[in-house]
Amino acid sequence: MDVLTPRSLDEALRLRAAHPDALPIQGGTDLMVDLNFDRRRPEALLNLNEVAELKGWSRENGVVRLGAGLTYTDAMSAKLAALLPAFSEASRTVGSPQIRNRGTIGGNLGTASPAGDALPPLLISECEVELQSVRGERRLALESFLIGPKRNALAPDELILAVRVRGGLGTQTFMKVGPRNAMVIAVVSLALGVDRERGVLSAAFGSAAPVATLVTAALDDVDSFPEQVAAAASPIDDVRGTGAYRRHALRVLVARALERCLTR
Ligand SMILES: Cc1cc2nc3c(=O)[nH]c(=O)nc-3n(C[C@H](O)[C@H](O)[C@H](O)COP(=O)(O)OP(=O)(O)OC[C@H]3O[C@@H](n4cnc5c(N)ncnc54)[C@H](O)[C@@H]3O)c2cc1C
Repeated sequence: MDVLTPRSLDEALRLRAAHPDALPIQGGTDLMVDLNFDRRRPEALLNLNEVAELKGWSRENGVVRLGAGLTYTDAMSAKLAALLPAFSEASRTVGSPQIRNRGTIGGNLGTASPAGDALPPLLISECEVELQSVRGERRLALESFLIGPKRNALAPDELILAVRVRGGLGTQTFMKVGPRNAMVIAVVSLALGVDRERGVLSAAFGSAAPVATLVTAALDDVDSFPEQVAAAASPIDDVRGTGAYRRHALRVLVARALERCLTR
C-alpha cells in the first residue's frame, strides 16, 4: 500500500483530486483498526500529518476555528476549556491518553459515528464544517454534514479543513454513560448548553439516533426539556444497551445537566 505524504494543504488537495481512492489518515485511531481487521484495503493512504494548515486553533469575533488535525489533548487545554467547556470535557473522556494524543476532531467527523464524542459538544456550539477541494471551499452546518450512521457529506475529492464554532455560549457541560469511566463507546452521551443571554437551551446527544442530534428550546421550557430531548431520540437495542434504557438515561442526563448548568 502506498502512503502519500503532502507537505502543504495545496499539495494535499492536488493529491486528493488525483487519487480519490487514497484514504485520508490523521491520527489513524479509527482507520488503522479498520485496516488491521481487513474491513478496508485502500490502494493508498493520504497521510495528513505533515500539513501544518490543519493543525491548531484560532479565534476571531467570537468564532473559534478548530483545525481538523486538532487532537483531544489539544482540546483539553485551559484556554479552549474556557471557550468550549463541553467540547473540552468530552475530549477528556475519549479513549486513553494515547488515543487522545493521536485522535483528532477531523477523524471523528470523518468517521461520523453516532457515538463520536466530539459531535454533541460541537453541535451545541453552532458548528459549521469547512471543506475544501481543488474546486474550492464550502461550509456546511454540522447537522447537514452528518447524513447517516458512519456517513457524511464529504465529496471524494474533498478534505475536512476545520470546524467553526461559537465560543463562550453560556454555561455548558458534557456527560456520557458507559459501563466504566474510560475506553468505552458511549451507551448514550449528552452535551447541554444554557444560554441565559439569548434565552436558549440546547442539547445534543450521541448513541441514541442514527446521527448525533441537536434539540433546542426556549429557556422557559426548562421543565419539559428532559422529555423533549428524550422524545427526539430514536435509539436501537444493541450489545451495549436497549433502546428503552438509552431513552431513559438520556432523560436523566438532561435533568442532571440542567441542574449542573443552572446552578453554576
Ligand atoms: C482504543 C480506542 C478508544 C477510542 N475511544 C473513543 C472515545 O472514547 N470516543 C470517541 O468518540 N472515539 C473513540 N475512538 C475512536 C477514534 O479515536 C476517534 O473517532 C478519533 O477522533 C479519530 O480520529 P483520527 O485522527 O485517529 O482519525 P483517522 O483514523 O485518521 O481517520 C478516521 C476517518 O476520518 C477520515 N479523515 C481523517 N481526517 C480527515 C480529513 N482531514 N479530511 C477528510 N477525511 C478525514 C479518514 O479517512 C477516516 O475515514 C477510540 C478508538 C480507539 C482505537
